[in-house]
Amino acid sequence: MQGESSFSQSQLDFDRHHIWHPYTSLTNPLPTYSVVSAKGVRLKLSDGRELVDGMSSWWTAVHGYNVPELNSAAAEQMEKMSHVMFGGITHKPAIELASKLVDFSPTGLENVFFSDSGSVSVEVAMKMAIQYQHSLGQERRTKFLTFKNGYHGDTTGAMSVCDPENGMHHLFSDFLMQHHFFNAPKRGFDEDPDQDELDELELFFQKHAMEAAAFILEPIVQGAGGMRIYSPKYLKKVKVLCEEHSVLFIADEIATGFGRTGKLFACEHANISPDIMCVGKALTGGYLSLAATLCSDHVSRTICEGQAGVFMHGPTFMANPLACAIAKKSIDLLLSSNWIQRVTAIESQLKRELESLKESDQVREVRVLGAIGVVEMKKEVNVPNAQEFFVEAGVWIRPFRNLIYIMPPYVIGSEELTKITKAMGDYCTIKS
Ligand SMILES: *Cc1c(COP(=O)(O)O)cnc(C)c1O
Repeated sequence: MQGESSFSQSQLDFDRHHIWHPYTSLTNPLPTYSVVSAKGVRLKLSDGRELVDGMSSWWTAVHGYNVPELNSAAAEQMEKMSHVMFGGITHKPAIELASKLVDFSPTGLENVFFSDSGSVSVEVAMKMAIQYQHSLGQERRTKFLTFKNGYHGDTTGAMSVCDPENGMHHLFSDFLMQHHFFNAPKRGFDEDPDQDELDELELFFQKHAMEAAAFILEPIVQGAGGMRIYSPKYLKKVKVLCEEHSVLFIADEIATGFGRTGKLFACEHANISPDIMCVGKALTGGYLSLAATLCSDHVSRTICEGQAGVFMHGPTFMANPLACAIAKKSIDLLLSSNWIQRVTAIESQLKRELESLKESDQVREVRVLGAIGVVEMKKEVNVPNAQEFFVEAGVWIRPFRNLIYIMPPYVIGSEELTKITKAMGDYCTIKS
C-alpha cells in the first residue's frame, strides 16, 4: 500500500511504545487497529477493510462520519477564526449555540458555561453546586450524593463521584474527596422501583443531605460504570427528595443527551428539569471536543450574589468558535432529521435481534433502550480476542469488562445494524 493510507512498521512501533491509549499499558499494550478514514457509518482500516461502526466513537458521532453539512460548517468557521479567547470577547458561534441549548434543553435551564470536555463540565457542575451552597451560607454542604456504578469522567472531582469500587478509579481513593454512594437502582426501565429501595433512599437523604451540595447522577442510563438502565419513576423520586432536602440535582447527560435514549435528554423520560445539566459527547456530532454545563437562573443568580461575585472557572479554550459552529450545525441537523423515528426503529430492531441472546448460557442479561444495546456476559470478555472476532466480522465493537454494548450512529441502515447484532450473537454463541 502507498501514501497516506499505509502505516510503516516504525510508526506502529512508535505508537505501541510512546503513545498512551485510553486505559492501556505502554509496556504491554493491547493491539490497535489503524483507521485511515471514516464515512457514513463505516471506518476504513489501513489494509482496506471497512467496518460498520457500532460505537459512534463513544456516543459522539450520531450523524456518522464525514458529514457534508458539518464539514462545511467547520470550513466556513475556519475562514473566520478557529479560536479566539472568551475573556472580554464574545462571538456568534457561542451565542447561537448557547441559545439553541437553552431553547431545547429541559425548561428552567437558562444559562450556559462552555468547557472543553465532559469531565471538565462535571468539575464545573460540582463547583457551581459548592459555590451555590456557599452563597446561601451552607458552607458545610461540601459532599456529593450519587449512585454506585456511576461514571462521570476521569478528572479528580469527577473521579470522586464515579463508582468507588468497579476498578476505574479505586486506586485513587485515598487521594480523592470522599462522597456518599447509594446502591445503583436495581430494576429496569419498565419496572416499578422496589418500595424497600425507595425507603432506603429516603433514609440515605435523611442521613447525608445536610452535608450535601448536590446529587449527581446519569439519568436513566448509567454508561461506562456498567451500562445499566433504570426507571423514570426512580429518577423522579431522586428529584423530589433533592427538592425536599435543598440538595441541588445535577444531571450528567453527557452520554444520554441528544436523542440517544429516545428523548432529546433522558430527564424527559421522567418529566423533570435538573438544576444543573452537563452535556458533551454528541454535542459536536463527534467532530471536536466540546462540553457545556447548563444551570437555572436561580443557581446562577445565587452564585453571583455570593462572596466571590463571579463563577470561578474559565478554560483557555472556552467556547472554542470552531467547535461551537460545528455543534450548532449538528443540533440543526439532528432537529431537522427524523431522529425520533430513527432511534425508535433502532430500538425495535435491537430488541428483536438481541432478545434471543438471553438464551445463551454465557449471557446474563440483554438491555435495550433507544439506540443503545447491551449484552451483559456472565464472564469478563477477553477484549483483544473479541475485538479481533468483531473486526473479522466487519464490525467495530469495543467491549469492556463483561459488557458487549453498542450505540450506533442514528443514520445506520437496518442491514448494517443486523450485521452488528449478528456478530454479537455469533460471539455469544461461538465463544466459550
Ligand atoms: C464520557 C462521559 C464523561 C466524561 O466525558 P469526557 O469528554 O470523556 O471527559 C462524563 N460523564 C458521562 C456520563 C460520560 O459518559
